[in-house]
Amino acid sequence: MSPRPPRRDYWNEPTLGWWERAYIFEIIRGLLTTNRVFWRNMGRWMTGRKGAVTSYYPEERRPDYARGNRGKHVLTQRPDGRPQCIACNMCATVCPAHCIEIEAGFDIEDTTHPKYPEAFAIDYARCIFCGFCVEACPEDAIRMVPDVPNLPGSDRHNMWLDKEHLMTWNPQQDVAKPYPPKGGLQK
Ligand code: SF4
Ligand code: SF4
Repeated sequence: MSPRPPRRDYWNEPTLGWWERAYIFEIIRGLLTTNRVFWRNMGRWMTGRKGAVTSYYPEERRPDYARGNRGKHVLTQRPDGRPQCIACNMCATVCPAHCIEIEAGFDIEDTTHPKYPEAFAIDYARCIFCGFCVEACPEDAIRMVPDVPNLPGSDRHNMWLDKEHLMTWNPQQDVAKPYPPKGGLQK
């Protein structure tokens, strides 16, 4: 028989008094709280006021998202309006929700930036807004900005945002890292 593992010390080790150990009193206390909130909300509803602090999305939109909220993706543009993206697929590879689809194109005439995204789409029905795609991008070609897309719908196929949308809804140039890099490309 293997020895019992040593007991761990937690900083917030609970200490139950006889009151908690009896359980029944705590159960009654929980039910009283639930009842109090339920009847308070019900009373407000019956007198024409809103009860719970619930937004009835999508009819109601919250105006007070946190300042740090980053709810929408932007594909940054080069000065000539083409996407900064080089279709390296790193964002799609790192995406834990597998919701980025990229179709790479190749322009042999463009010696500085031959690879580009022929198609780029994000499935907002699956995106979990983790920001990993932004972190992984080596070109600052994808950003997340403070906004919330107007997503509700009855068809998930409408929740794909394509390249045109991601580039034009809030156009941004890659000011942090212009392309081609300062001093020209390394040969
Ligand atoms: S925010 Fe996260 S889940 Fe959404 S597209 Fe980027 S990596 Fe994928
Ligand atoms: S957005 Fe960035 S990481 Fe994704 S394919 Fe384009 S360059 Fe690569």
